[in-house]
Amino acid sequence: MAFSLALSDEQQQLRDWAHAFSQQVIRPAAFDWDDREETPWPILQEAAGIGLYGDDILMTLLSDPTGQGFPILAEELFWGDAGIALSIMGSTLAAVGIIAAGTAEQIAHWVPQCYGTDKDVKVGAFCSSEPEAGSDVANMLTTAKYDQASDEWLISGQKAWVTNGGVADVLVVQAVVEPSLGTRGQAAFAMSADTAGIAAPRKLRKHGVRASNTADIFFDGVRVPGSALLGGKDKLDERLARAREGRKTSRQPAMATFELSRPTVGAMAVGVARAAYEYALDYAKERVVFGRPIIEKQAISFLLADIATEIDAARLLVRRAAWMGATGQKFASAEGSMSKLKAGRVAVWATERAIQILGGNGYTREYPVERMHRDAKVFDIFEGTEQIQQLVIARSITGLRLQ
Ligand SMILES: Cc1cc2nc3c(=O)[nH]c(=O)nc-3n(C[C@H](O)[C@H](O)[C@H](O)COP(=O)(O)OP(=O)(O)OC[C@H]3O[C@@H](n4cnc5c(N)ncnc54)[C@H](O)[C@@H]3O)c2cc1C
Repeated sequence: MAFSLALSDEQQQLRDWAHAFSQQVIRPAAFDWDDREETPWPILQEAAGIGLYGDDILMTLLSDPTGQGFPILAEELFWGDAGIALSIMGSTLAAVGIIAAGTAEQIAHWVPQCYGTDKDVKVGAFCSSEPEAGSDVANMLTTAKYDQASDEWLISGQKAWVTNGGVADVLVVQAVVEPSLGTRGQAAFAMSADTAGIAAPRKLRKHGVRASNTADIFFDGVRVPGSALLGGKDKLDERLARAREGRKTSRQPAMATFELSRPTVGAMAVGVARAAYEYALDYAKERVVFGRPIIEKQAISFLLADIATEIDAARLLVRRAAWMGATGQKFASAEGSMSKLKAGRVAVWATERAIQILGGNGYTREYPVERMHRDAKVFDIFEGTEQIQQLVIARSITGLRLQ
């Protein structure tokens, strides 16, 4: 299938549907939920009610052969507001983690639980990062030890900065099963967040995306059944045996999840950048200084031209990477990472420039570009920092095991 930016009828409908929800429901509520720093449950409920949140839409998007469904949805929702949209899309990372590593039975069991129903909405969380292992995934300390007698796994450790961490029903947890094998000795587990020994005592207060709950989660001798291991024990034993012999193995589960999700995270950043750009463009047409609208100043109109160009460039990289992922193309130059790197930088830069265009107003909470700038910064950090994307790209293009 050739790469094309032309949207099918279904993709156009998806875009327009998500845009309308963003415009009518998300945007008007953005200031309030940012200020409250709480998960916007009523909005999740409303999204679930119309089918914009849930495992059905997840499966529809995953079955789009062009891979464009996720980026289209992400851009439109994040155009509305990044914090609220992250609450809506946060469960996807957990669900995709289950789909990437789980068996058909595990997917059927756990994925719907990541969303609940339109009457009783739930969220899921993907727990990989730790205080000493954000970028350095090989330094993960959370362990999972198998107890053959009871066919249970015993999980202990701490996860950090988990999206939906304090409010999730389902947790997808990465843990070390064989420390000597580094990332190849890690495995993924799905479990209910109310399992004995799991605690998320406090929500973290943040710079941006404040309508999204972020929390550290503690696992103190947590016992989960053998069936919690995603992919099953036989597959894990086989993978560990290959790793011990120094043979090639399938990707470490967290890495496989990130590879699939990076272009979508790039699309989220594009949505925030576009929102700030559109706001600044309208403002520049209205704001009169020295007797003329500021849009007539070349410094302003050229800046807007640059912002528009950069957003388009980022969107192109995102859409290409999403298409490559969906059609099984090899990311020969880490195109997934390229798309996220570019889109994150564009979002931070474009939102900062939007503040500049709005002047004093832009710096206040009376206008949304201040919030958009705070929100944008997270795209340089989560799902692999700016430098980690550079590292992944540099490794790809040089073929060197750079550190
Ligand atoms: C709002 C939010 C939500 C999050 N949600 C989740 C979630 O749902 N699940 C989850 O598992 N994690 C989540 N995270 C964690 C996030 O993925 C990590 O914070 C991120 O991977 C960076 O890890 P770190 O914070 O340990 O930074 P560090 O690894 O300590 O990095 C610090 C600095 O050093 C740089 N650096 C590190 N290594 C290198 C290198 N080799 N070369 C050059 N520079 C380097 C980094 O780029 C960064 O600038 C979230 C974080 C935030 C802020």
